[in-house]
Amino acid sequence: MSDCIFCKIANGEIKSETVYEDDTVRAFRDLSPQAPEHILIVPKEHIANIAEFNSEDGELAAHIFTEVIPKLARDLNIAGKGFRLVINTGEDGGQTVNHLHVHLLGGRKMTWPPG
Ligand code: 5GP
Ligand code: ZN
Repeated sequence: MSDCIFCKIANGEIKSETVYEDDTVRAFRDLSPQAPEHILIVPKEHIANIAEFNSEDGELAAHIFTEVIPKLARDLNIAGKGFRLVINTGEDGGQTVNHLHVHLLGGRKMTWPPG
């Protein structure tokens, strides 16, 4: 999508502090980190949010959750102590960038409930 900032980051048109990349996914540091480790994991394909997921996206979802996130957690040394995943979805979900992204937050103790 031509006017989508995360499409531009995902395809490398806009530089980011990338911590992981493969053919389908890029993971990069959030511009405004809310924890010592705050990574955004985005598909390279433009998908607006998780409500737009369909069965064809199963392989991508599995890749993100079974391979990319566990690897990032290990590489960032937060797998043992723990971390939080957040997927803000739509207006009520607090989503501000309409390109699906998973927040990976770690390196401090999180509180509950979220605001
Ligand atoms: P959302 O509120 O949609 O779940 O999260 C969007 C996130 O993207 C926010 O945490 C915000 O700080 C981050 N963000 C917005 N624009 C940019 C950008 O240009 N570069 C990076 N690295 N992060 C961004
Ligand atoms: Zn996009």
